[in-house]
Amino acid sequence: MKPIYHQLPFNITCIDTQHMRSDFVAAYLIENNHRAAFIDTGCYLSVPTLLATLEAKNISRESVDYIILTHIHLDHAGGAGELLRHLPNANIYVHQRGAHHLIDPSKLRAGVIGVYGELFFKQFLGDLIPAPAERVIIKQAGDTLNLGGRLLAFIDTPGHARHHLCIWDKTSQGIFSGDTLGVSYREFDTDQGTLIFPPTTPIQFDPAAWIKTINQLMTLNPKTAYLTHFNQITFNQASAKMLIQHINGFVAIAKAHQTSQHRHQAIKKALLSYLLDIASKHGVTLDEARQIKLFKGDLEICAQGLGVWLDENP
Ligand SMILES: [Zn+2]
Repeated sequence: MKPIYHQLPFNITCIDTQHMRSDFVAAYLIENNHRAAFIDTGCYLSVPTLLATLEAKNISRESVDYIILTHIHLDHAGGAGELLRHLPNANIYVHQRGAHHLIDPSKLRAGVIGVYGELFFKQFLGDLIPAPAERVIIKQAGDTLNLGGRLLAFIDTPGHARHHLCIWDKTSQGIFSGDTLGVSYREFDTDQGTLIFPPTTPIQFDPAAWIKTINQLMTLNPKTAYLTHFNQITFNQASAKMLIQHINGFVAIAKAHQTSQHRHQAIKKALLSYLLDIASKHGVTLDEARQIKLFKGDLEICAQGLGVWLDENP
């Protein structure tokens, strides 16, 4: 297998896990002094790509110390248990609210199959392999890891999910942000820069907590963010402002359709026109059919998450 990856500065590799499509779900590999760490893994089906990347870069499986998970949504962490089986010296590092789901993934599995069905699970996520409890290590705000002398610091970042951590890499002045600093597809880059929007995924979307988290992260003065969806972007005060604006925009859409008869469809439709509108103002010239295709998965999931939030905040 020939893996697809993007070599970034500071010994960081953005691996395209090929989940669903190309340029959609990244996993990161950091190297320092002959030690290595993964941040996020993609799903079970992505693991051969991660291992092939190690091989292509001449990094031994024994030199990987850490599998760090930003959170346990399956596009980020579904491959962790399987990856661990191939990395004899690694442990998994995760938020305390996520740890038990890695040790016993039966609830996660049932949840996904309940929403998307068995066929989707098998075809697009593959499987979930339990991780031995003694190899799952809880990390919390203020904790650090030392990767061959390179400091990685954990920040508790609720808003997208309560089991979300971001990782501050002092060397690159960058944040491995999982979903907390938004989704930004490279297809929507223009001379105005990157287009960023919030994945308001079920079931723990919390706009007030999320905005507080973003403001807290900005006190680090990051130069860059390593997004799972997708790749490295410059992340500055303007990026934070854009993301917060669209969190508020998505919430306004949810509230406006609170009592709509076909609420989910109405929210989806409104989100699509919102996204097409911000893309157009951003100078995106991709044809509309292509834009709709790229937004399609997010529309469904964002509308579901907004619906759950409405139900819990009547
Ligand atoms: Zn997520």
